[in-house]
Amino acid sequence: MRALMWFRSDLRIRDNTALHRACKTADEGVIAVFSVCPEQWADHDWGSMKVDFVLRNVRALSESLSRLNIPLLLIRARYFAELPAKLLRLARRHRCTALHFNQEYEVNELRRDREVVALFEKRGLQVQTYTDQTIQDVSKIRTGSGGWYAVFTPFRRKWCQSIQQGTVPDVWPTPKRMARLSVSPGRVPARVSGFAGLRRPDLWPEGERVAHQRLRAFVSRRIRRYDESRDVPALNGTSALSPYLAAGVLSPRQCLSAALEANNDLLDSGEPGVTTWISELIWREFYRHVLLGFPRICRNRPFRVETDRLPWRCDEQHFRAWCQGLTGVPIVDAGMRQLAQTGWMHNRLRMIVAMYLTKDLFIDWRWGERFFMQHLVDGDVASNNGGWQWSASTGTDAAPYFRIFNPVSQSRRYDRDGDFIRRFVPELGELPARTIHEPHAGTAPAVDYPRPLVDHRTARGRAIREFQRLPGRQSG
Ligand SMILES: Cc1cc2nc3c(=O)[nH]c(=O)nc-3n(C[C@H](O)[C@H](O)[C@H](O)COP(=O)(O)OP(=O)(O)OC[C@H]3O[C@@H](n4cnc5c(N)ncnc54)[C@H](O)[C@@H]3O)c2cc1C
Repeated sequence: MRALMWFRSDLRIRDNTALHRACKTADEGVIAVFSVCPEQWADHDWGSMKVDFVLRNVRALSESLSRLNIPLLLIRARYFAELPAKLLRLARRHRCTALHFNQEYEVNELRRDREVVALFEKRGLQVQTYTDQTIQDVSKIRTGSGGWYAVFTPFRRKWCQSIQQGTVPDVWPTPKRMARLSVSPGRVPARVSGFAGLRRPDLWPEGERVAHQRLRAFVSRRIRRYDESRDVPALNGTSALSPYLAAGVLSPRQCLSAALEANNDLLDSGEPGVTTWISELIWREFYRHVLLGFPRICRNRPFRVETDRLPWRCDEQHFRAWCQGLTGVPIVDAGMRQLAQTGWMHNRLRMIVAMYLTKDLFIDWRWGERFFMQHLVDGDVASNNGGWQWSASTGTDAAPYFRIFNPVSQSRRYDRDGDFIRRFVPELGELPARTIHEPHAGTAPAVDYPRPLVDHRTARGRAIREFQRLPGRQSG
């Protein structure tokens, strides 16, 4: 039997469940395929950073697969709807009788996969799908009454219990070399039209080797201090592995396995740095669970449906200032400029800028969610939506609406000496730590830097009042 392995957000040969199974079961070789869908990607708000990272990783994957005698072919489709027929044609042309792929969780992706499975099965081909994007099958983690979790802590508890009961597969071995086929790999495009913006291959090199080097460096040198340093954006305190996880160049099982190795196999005790990091991996699983349980969040709806009545302000000018890092709040502007220049933003800053947009400016979280997706190299629907709805107080286990970050206090706390601000807002470079967080307050020296768009206290009061007006809401 010859198998067709369909790569999507799992661009690796190591610890890839579907690839492992395809290689195990195919005695007449494996053909791999990746679909380039520029219009669909644009519809999903993928930006140039993400598209470039994905294409470079597809090229690296193709080289690794060639060493296993697995040719990677490419199909081009404008939209997902064209894929079932194109995949079937390719499978038939290469005499593949089984299709293997790892599951994805977003609404359009699920619909696409259902259509592919239906067509293949109708034409007598086998289809095998696998859980691979998460450490465990998050659809099976359920509350006592069989429902979906909407709060992180009990989800985490259940998730850990399930791991401790030993139901989690180990990291899969890398497939052995297959019999050579007379099929040449396809040409992976360096670019596709429509995604001409920023690219930073220098910051985000492609390939599994790099991803593992970064994982090893983090686990051997920084993970033990993660609980203390993860909130300080000026430090290199987090793993910066999110782009590799989002594109599947690295698997979350590989991350968990490396963390457990550094913690004597303890999941929720031992080194606090390690257990805190594992918790972040579980947040990633939680948001995928939420996406599956409440697919409306993938259709532009809030988790808390009543918050759709909030009269968000459609202030284009304020939104533009936020996008450009010109709000007059240095920590917000530093975060937004980090995103614009690197395609990535530190988690503490993602929370600060998202809270600022939705509470201080009272602008719809969906505007921010979309802008992030268009600019992030690690853009990921479940985590991005989860983060935005957390910040906007519209989501599962979200920040309570009355607990609004004061961006200046956050700045003083997490960027005490102003080092991060100085790095990304050079016009404030000469200011001392005393004044850099709020340059226009008091007797700060004149600098060519905008005044704050809004007064935080006034804006905070407005946001709280609007939330309190929602039906069924009490004051905090
Ligand atoms: C408004 C907002 C938007 C976000 N958008 C995205 C996004 O599009 N893609 C994305 O991967 N993450 C997103 N996050 C989550 C988080 O900010 C990033 O995962 C993290 O900053 C990535 O850096 P790191 O790899 O150094 O993380 P580490 O701190 O080293 O954590 C390890 C891994 O755990 C996962 N993780 C960490 N924190 C979270 C979290 N809060 N939620 C879910 N997963 C988490 C990531 O895969 C991360 O790579 C968002 C958070 C917020 C508040």
